[in-house]
Amino acid sequence: MAEVLLKDVVKEYGSVEAVKKLNLCCNDKEFLVLLGPSGCGKSSTLRMIAGLEDITRGQISIGGVVVNDTHPSKRDIAMVFETYALYPHKTVFENMAYPLRVRKTPGPEIDQKVRRAAEILEIESFLDRYPRQLSGGQKQRVAIGRAIVREPKVFLMDEPISHLDAKLRSHMRGELKHLHKELNQTFIYVSHDQTEAMAMADRIAVMNLGELQQFDTPQNIFNKPVNTFVAGFVGDPPMNFLPSLQTLEGDKWVLKFDGFTLKVSEKLRSQIIASGTKFQQDLEVILGARPEHIILKTERTSEEDMAGKIYITEPLGSYMIVDVMLGGERIKVRADIGFNVEPDDRVFVELPPDKIQLFNAKTSNSIIHPMDDVSGCAANGQ
Ligand code: ADP
Ligand code: MG
Repeated sequence: MAEVLLKDVVKEYGSVEAVKKLNLCCNDKEFLVLLGPSGCGKSSTLRMIAGLEDITRGQISIGGVVVNDTHPSKRDIAMVFETYALYPHKTVFENMAYPLRVRKTPGPEIDQKVRRAAEILEIESFLDRYPRQLSGGQKQRVAIGRAIVREPKVFLMDEPISHLDAKLRSHMRGELKHLHKELNQTFIYVSHDQTEAMAMADRIAVMNLGELQQFDTPQNIFNKPVNTFVAGFVGDPPMNFLPSLQTLEGDKWVLKFDGFTLKVSEKLRSQIIASGTKFQQDLEVILGARPEHIILKTERTSEEDMAGKIYITEPLGSYMIVDVMLGGERIKVRADIGFNVEPDDRVFVELPPDKIQLFNAKTSNSIIHPMDDVSGCAANGQ
């Protein structure tokens, strides 16, 4: 078993608090992605798990054993970095064999393990080459191969493919996900790329400014973001945010913004009540709507439709992104490529009431999906 548990983990570099009281429970054999913008503390977290950085405060355990004072080589982990750190004067075979040579593993066993890893990574045909004779993607496979031969319980990867070109990156995402299935071990993977996280993770831990924001499945991160940071970080183009007022009109809850009024649906209303959030009259909120959930039309079909004006269209092959001015706000909508409009055309915007998100404008926290235990530890009784 190789679950990785972080308890109240803090990392300080002098006066910089890079990681703030982080609680995180990664299950055995899980593919966990640490996602967040540059500087949010992802690498510091990974390096503390690896033992390459001291833990300022708190506790880290791997497979039930506290490793705070355990040397990296004794943690049963292997780390893959963005820079491949291959030895230029060693062949691919020798680069991969290196960790086993250090351990004084017998030759025939090294041969068998290196060949097996090369087979998994489909690099058997260049075992005799030198790193300079390989492409970026191939070098990264060798670096991963060197991690595989160690047969660690936990693979730690820090943005291993972020410098590759877009096409290769997309290919490697599939490869790494396949590799995870094949090896059936715990993966903790650092990325600033939400597409990568959404595509690969069993669960995503979203971080910002050294703090864990949300830790959940890609589906829940996308559909039930707990605050505006998570809502805005995941999705492309990102969620639209409209500053609004939540209020009562007669006995109906409504949202008002820029002269528009949107009824709060029964479904959303019962979701909000179920979440334990009380209705607050005249509360300033942020209404969130994803570009793919908004419906655009050239004719008004319901009295709730809001009149807007086309700002610009961006055709992207199979679909297009349309920028619409809605009152004083500019929103992005994903529309069918056949939606035939020109800048300045009048359009009608439908915000499906069950698909919208609502955040408290002051706290940025979701009114619909309030945050409880973000660590993911409750599920496994930690
Ligand atoms: P990320 O990997 O998410 O980009 P890091 O963990 O590398 O973030 O960095 C988190 C914060 O800690 C940043 O503000 C960074 O400048 C700071 N930091 C990282 N490493 C060091 C270090 N060795 N000394 C001082 N500050 C550091
Ligand atoms: Mg980093």
